[in-house]
Amino acid sequence: MKIICIGRNYAEHAYELNHEIPEQPVIFLKPETAICTANTIIYPEFTNNLQYECEIVLKINKKGKNIIESEAHHYYNEWTVGIDFTARDLQQRLKEKGLPWEIAKAFDQSAVVGNFVPVSQQNTYKSNFSLAKNGKVVQKGYLSDLLFSFEQIICHVSQYFSLEKDDLIFTGTPQGVGPVNINDKLVGYLNNEERFSITIK
Ligand code: MG
Repeated sequence: MKIICIGRNYAEHAYELNHEIPEQPVIFLKPETAICTANTIIYPEFTNNLQYECEIVLKINKKGKNIIESEAHHYYNEWTVGIDFTARDLQQRLKEKGLPWEIAKAFDQSAVVGNFVPVSQQNTYKSNFSLAKNGKVVQKGYLSDLLFSFEQIICHVSQYFSLEKDDLIFTGTPQGVGPVNINDKLVGYLNNEERFSITIK
């Protein structure tokens, strides 16, 4: 399986990192070894600025290639929230040199994945999600604010990568990304229900 991540999919987040609004989805991958379903992660030694990005995560339920937008909703029926952990200092240095981001984004435990639940198809884009750090809400996302819908993402991504059952798509983070420190506790919510809880060690 693979993890496909979308960058800059909420306008306010693109602005907070001084990016323009993309014309097409920004895509990068993480390997399966990035997945973290445990309730602790170890602060990596190679960064001094580990940042959370709370995102909706879709689970692909069947194989597909060149999926058309109107069929794309048949390719996922479970979702959750997760964290696209980012070594922001490392990413910044790589971006400045025009180099690939992988080591800043795809390292072990960089893809926190909560417990999956069925997607409510009628209310998908009325949904919201949030992240609390040490009990205080630091990110709140509304799916009505997505620049690219889940169907547009699946259509676009599947032109380049065949999708397979159990692939995950991280669909982008809203504004409010920020750093974590050792002993911080992060709790993710989808429609106000807890989906993961994780402590930095
Ligand atoms: Mg992200």
